[in-house]
Amino acid sequence: MSDSRVIVVGASGRMGRMLVRAITESANANVVGATERPGSEFVGRDAGELAGVETLGVRLVDDVHACPEADVLIDFTAPVATLNHAIFVAERGMAMVIGTTGCDDEQMQQLRNTLSDSPVVMAANYSVGVNLALSLIERAAQVLGNDYDAEIFEAHHKHKVDAPSGTALAMGKSLAAGRGVELDAVSVLSRQGMTGARKAGDIGFSVVRGGNIVGEHKAMFIADEERIEINHIASDRMVFARGAVRAAGWLSDQSGGWYDMQDVLGLN
Ligand code: NAD
Repeated sequence: MSDSRVIVVGASGRMGRMLVRAITESANANVVGATERPGSEFVGRDAGELAGVETLGVRLVDDVHACPEADVLIDFTAPVATLNHAIFVAERGMAMVIGTTGCDDEQMQQLRNTLSDSPVVMAANYSVGVNLALSLIERAAQVLGNDYDAEIFEAHHKHKVDAPSGTALAMGKSLAAGRGVELDAVSVLSRQGMTGARKAGDIGFSVVRGGNIVGEHKAMFIADEERIEINHIASDRMVFARGAVRAAGWLSDQSGGWYDMQDVLGLN
């Protein structure tokens, strides 16, 4: 695998700084470009210094078109920004690693249309442990079926703006796939007031927000006599950044197509 030249967009964000750090720690990737939104106080600052690593000589710019040629763009920003970055990636013929969550159906369709010829990894969660958990959940759902009531719990820090988390929804999709149903047909995203009794086959979600919780996810399979829980706790965001950098390296050997972290890890 040759060295990947990487553009990090949103490079002063919480994940952006981690990504720059993870790339500098990686043996086969280099930061060649970094951006922030127009008006950000961090435009003009060195990406390495912001990330708390050495000076990289890569200053944050407020227009991605000003970045030099690169192999892959890593985007953990926000849905509208990610759509604009996708247009840039398609124009340049690069690869893209997307970590942004909270895209609605229309935005997802736009992303897929724009990036129809590009190599893309998009994952709700880049942690290796979470992706293993997704496989285990699908397997558990296959074996346990509707006899066990399935519930998904997630907790995140107080800054998170979307709910349930992309990872919780991905767990729901794995669970539904294991049962051979569509998540949309069985998901219960909130409960309030006179909800009536739980319907067999429902997949319920519950959400906690507070403090600096990095990310907790739990799938529960509940029967009268026993409960099986598949639980993942992330304690440092670097776990996502390292996974995203691993995905960027993996993409350099792929042709155009839409992949997820399960593909990167060979779990599919
Ligand atoms: P953040 O707000 O700290 O960082 C986002 C950064 O993007 C900000 O600095 C913002 O100014 C910048 N930005 C916004 N518009 C931009 C534009 N047009 N051009 C350049 N930069 C722009 O948020 P965060 O906690 O780092 O999370 C970012 C996203 O990543 C969220 O959607 C979050 O849910 C997601 N996330 C995904 C994973 C995963 O593994 N998939 C893990 C953690 C976070």
